[in-house]
Amino acid sequence: MECKKGGVQMPENLLLFLLDEDLRTLARPLRLMGFDTSTFASESASLQSKLDQARDEFRTLVTPDRKTAEAAILAGSPRVILLESKPNENTDSLLSRFLEANPDALRIARNENFFFCRCVNCNTRTLPISKDLASDRVPQDVLSKSERFSICPRCEKVTWDGIYEEQQRRRFRALFQAISDRF
Ligand SMILES: [Zn+2]
Repeated sequence: MECKKGGVQMPENLLLFLLDEDLRTLARPLRLMGFDTSTFASESASLQSKLDQARDEFRTLVTPDRKTAEAAILAGSPRVILLESKPNENTDSLLSRFLEANPDALRIARNENFFFCRCVNCNTRTLPISKDLASDRVPQDVLSKSERFSICPRCEKVTWDGIYEEQQRRRFRALFQAISDRF
């Protein structure tokens, strides 16, 4: 929805992520930030199929499992991030550790160029639509308060600039600030 700095291209080939099962909670915030973030096609994917999917889709495999990370490296994958989970850790703490481990993603997230450009449900890039086109797809009070609307071409979910986006923006800024304060 935002995507306002036209011409700025995310270096997609460096920042395509594939999340291991135990890290699925990161999919939503990473997509909100604009990162192309997939999870495994199958709930019970084998190690080999995980490595195959990461390779075929040119994605960085993000896993909490040391053996999976080692197997990826041994299989010749240059793109793997080991993000070991901590007991009862909340999503923002996990997200914070992920960004600290991935300075390129942190740098891109910080400039906010790609916030709200991707469907949180299915990971597809959203497309801007006019208020008229959105009018029969959103509640009336949203229509009167919002000016920018987007639609996911795949699942047809409509999103708009509103309180939810502002909350998420504040959440991410607080998180970036907390990371800065630690260094
Ligand atoms: Zn979608």
